[in-house]
Amino acid sequence: MGMTMTQKILAAHAGLPSVTAGQLIRAKVDLVLGNDITAPVAIKEFEKAGIESVFDREKIVLVMDHFTPNKDIKAAEQCKVVRGFAKKHAITNFFDVGKVGVEHALLPELGLVKPGDLVIGADSHTCTYGALAAFSTGVGSTDMAAGMATGTCWLKVPTAIRFILTGKLKPWVSGKDVILHIIGKIGVDGALYQSMEFTGEGLKSMTMEDRLCMANMAIEAGAKNGVFEYDEQTAAYAAGHGCKDWTVYKADADADYTATYEIDLSAIHPTVSLPHLPDNAKPVSELGEIKIDQVVIGSCTNGRMEDLRAAAKLFEGRQVHEGVRCIVIPATQKIMLQAMEEGLVKIFIDAGCAVSTPTCGPCLGGHMGILASGERAVATTNRNFVGRMGHTESEVYLSSPAVAAASAIAGRLVSPETVLGGNA
Ligand code: SF4
Repeated sequence: MGMTMTQKILAAHAGLPSVTAGQLIRAKVDLVLGNDITAPVAIKEFEKAGIESVFDREKIVLVMDHFTPNKDIKAAEQCKVVRGFAKKHAITNFFDVGKVGVEHALLPELGLVKPGDLVIGADSHTCTYGALAAFSTGVGSTDMAAGMATGTCWLKVPTAIRFILTGKLKPWVSGKDVILHIIGKIGVDGALYQSMEFTGEGLKSMTMEDRLCMANMAIEAGAKNGVFEYDEQTAAYAAGHGCKDWTVYKADADADYTATYEIDLSAIHPTVSLPHLPDNAKPVSELGEIKIDQVVIGSCTNGRMEDLRAAAKLFEGRQVHEGVRCIVIPATQKIMLQAMEEGLVKIFIDAGCAVSTPTCGPCLGGHMGILASGERAVATTNRNFVGRMGHTESEVYLSSPAVAAASAIAGRLVSPETVLGGNA
């Protein structure tokens, strides 16, 4: 029996000629990631075990992105712990306020993940890097501690579901609409402990931003990882971001999949996930009148340049609806700067948006846009669980940046075409 993309990467990192689904392996890791919430727990475990040094100071990435700039004393203390650890062990990739970005936008931007890599991170959306044909997955803080100490991790080899993408995305439809549509189809446990492997000629019409957004949300279907087949776009992105010496792993023709879905990209419309689960997905056109209080455009899912450009196209010459707060959070410092240089920040501010320094902020109900009871937000983030952005009686609707911007202008959930009229 052949191997899937994921199994090929895992076998190579375990030093084995092949692996099969269900097998327990110990694999070498190329990168270990932690943030200001998870790293302090890992550091405590690392120190409790009496370990003197990290396995490789260049292969540990510590990103202070969740509650920064520090929202309260507890957040400040958490960052202090990580700052001290990074200094003690001379960690090369330590990112503090002023250099920080939301981790899963920052790592690809800096070229820290290469195709074929194995990355573990104490954050569930570590699966984002599958967009680069790498294996990446979220782990607990104790696994992060073990990874920092040994440069290895244990894994159970997953089975896989194959998604064959065909056709081409319509205007104003993006990777976010596709992944919400897929999660709506298979459910939040539809890929439980499996790989979601994306392939097919439809990939050609999907940008790296589309792929990063889709791989990011693989965990929302319960997946161990999401991974895109390597192609010219992967190669161009890796080369353009300073990666060198990567390995390409492709699935064998006789690889085993528990299911195969064919997804016609041209049949997908702007889609929203209604509260309180990402699989509660519906085309925007099927919704009735849903008035909103807040819009958040940002996060590791949709805070990249392509996302901001799509939102700015809608905001240009238009205003945020009275009574709606719209918060735009570029995902990294570089994106913030580029958005300023391209005039996008001016468009957002002229339209009545608040523009924030890079942070996870409201995505996890941290700060910078917490909802009160009864309030409703449209967000380009990845989770709409009860209380995710604030009060347990608030609601979050997940959408693309284009739908979020259009909704901010309309004051209710609408598709971009509704705002653009005949100018779509
Ligand atoms: Fe997690 Fe949201 Fe931050 Fe992404 S932006 S890493 S989902 S808190």
